[in-house]
Amino acid sequence: MSGGAISEDGGELLAKLNAAPRGDFIAMLAGVYEHSPWIAERAWDLRPFASLAALKQALVRAVREAGHEQQLALVRAHPELVGKAALAGDLTPESLDEQGRVGLAHCSPEEFAQLRDLNAAYSARFGWPFILAVRGPRGTGLTRGQIIAALERRLHNPDDVEFAECLRQIHRIAEIRLNPKFGFEPALGNAVWDWCEALAAHSEPEWAANGQLTATYLTDAHRACAHDIQSWMQDCGFDDVAIDAVGNVVGLYHGSDPQARRLLTGSHYDTVRNAGKYDGRIGILIPMVCVRELRRAGRRLPYGIEVVAFAEEEGQRYKTAFLGSGALVGAFAPAWLEQRDAAGMTMRDAMLHAGLPASLDAVAALRRDPARYLGFIEVHIEQGPVLSALDLPLGIVTSINANVRCVGEICGLASHAGTTPMRQRRDAACGAAELALYMERRAAADGDAVATMGMLDVPGGSINVVPGRCRFSLDLRAPSDAQRDSLLGDVRAELTAICSRRGLRFTLEETMRERAAPSDPAWQARWERAVQALGLPLHRLPSGAGHDAMKLHATLPQAMLFVRGENAGISHNPLESSTADDLHLACAAFNRLLDDLAAPPC
Ligand SMILES: [Zn+2]
Repeated sequence: MSGGAISEDGGELLAKLNAAPRGDFIAMLAGVYEHSPWIAERAWDLRPFASLAALKQALVRAVREAGHEQQLALVRAHPELVGKAALAGDLTPESLDEQGRVGLAHCSPEEFAQLRDLNAAYSARFGWPFILAVRGPRGTGLTRGQIIAALERRLHNPDDVEFAECLRQIHRIAEIRLNPKFGFEPALGNAVWDWCEALAAHSEPEWAANGQLTATYLTDAHRACAHDIQSWMQDCGFDDVAIDAVGNVVGLYHGSDPQARRLLTGSHYDTVRNAGKYDGRIGILIPMVCVRELRRAGRRLPYGIEVVAFAEEEGQRYKTAFLGSGALVGAFAPAWLEQRDAAGMTMRDAMLHAGLPASLDAVAALRRDPARYLGFIEVHIEQGPVLSALDLPLGIVTSINANVRCVGEICGLASHAGTTPMRQRRDAACGAAELALYMERRAAADGDAVATMGMLDVPGGSINVVPGRCRFSLDLRAPSDAQRDSLLGDVRAELTAICSRRGLRFTLEETMRERAAPSDPAWQARWERAVQALGLPLHRLPSGAGHDAMKLHATLPQAMLFVRGENAGISHNPLESSTADDLHLACAAFNRLLDDLAAPPC
């Protein structure tokens, strides 16, 4: 299949570009970046390009290295959406086509007035025109409502965040303009994107009513997702597809020898409340589309592929987490069956209602024998801003961070806010605030560690009383257990010092602790080779969020691939988004890894 169905470049034009003198090269890329031939001019120095993806990266790099003034000139070279240039007929053919395709020429008078006011507010606020790739993440066009909503939302961004977003949109516009020149369509990414969209149609009624996505464990919406995934897996040509005793959808594509060991992969299809459409799901759908292509090519690999759509990872309906992947490593807690959801329904009853056996024996039988598997890989949307800030579509996960959570309380003395002099206070909230600022400094200076005080509460506080008590939480994460432990040790020591200096007492109780799950070096290297083979730069990063791979880590070597999120990587939020092009690259990387694994060791 390499070079065939999953080829990602229009080789002929690429060869021409690679061989072209500078002037011809610039001419061939005319119009890709609005009124800014200097970008192609600089990218010329970076030839040859191994792939279309590599060319896109070179253009991105030319802009990244240009400095702020030139970047600002690039932003200002763009027309306003439905602005003066459009009215005067001064748009470039590319802009005219894009604005026309999404129907911006057919705004109602109200929409037109709204866009005009928002545009004016935007340019007054930032001093440059609002830029949006109106063809959108799928390339088929945003609605006028989506465009107006994006403009309204982005008006409130800080300047630097908004400037970076404009550049990201400019690169996305360039990508959409480049693809047809190369006769390229991100067909596999489109398939994954469309499946994500179709799954997102299943949402629990009270959330669906507001256009929001929520599909928690074994609700009707959740089961409808399982049903869709099951039938799509069958359509893709998996040999066996079944829903297991906890609701995981399991698809098996045999190797050339059906008894051969298997590659295990997958992610979760349940969601948080008011979720994005890509969290978890792309890690199911990307392997599915790769199996579909194998089947279409009539190809069997020397190993089997088992794709598991995990039923539960987010711990929303019941106080569980990683239930689906946990079942594969024997980590299903029997007491979970008796847990009740907010409406009082036990998990056992929810399982029976879903047609599952609700039997501990059946769950225990899901445990996988590690000897039958090669390893576990997972593709996931990054859920953070790192790849977006670096303008990279894919990233290699080095470790799923270790974490520790604590709840604590500081006690001081509640006293009169008017009569207690500043030097004679024992203010519990100030103690907590001082600790929060220490954590911020300490974690920032410690590589990839992060520290958060997410809950701060003055119980029974009053506007005219010095806080006598303050409750708080700690969430500390780091790529290794040792790094996390030393972070916690320092935070605890600082808390002790703050309290003794301020005449306060404290309690601190640890509520959760998870070990780090470092990527297996050989599997991480396979992802790295796959990403490099696409002509993309390597970037390694730890995962701050927990993932199913963390559970499988108990019994199998594992490694993850991250896909950039749009909107600065926001996740657990309806603004979570990914482009068909990035998803296509993830499919291509997955496919390269399959080939790599199939190749005899040299
Ligand atoms: Zn997830």
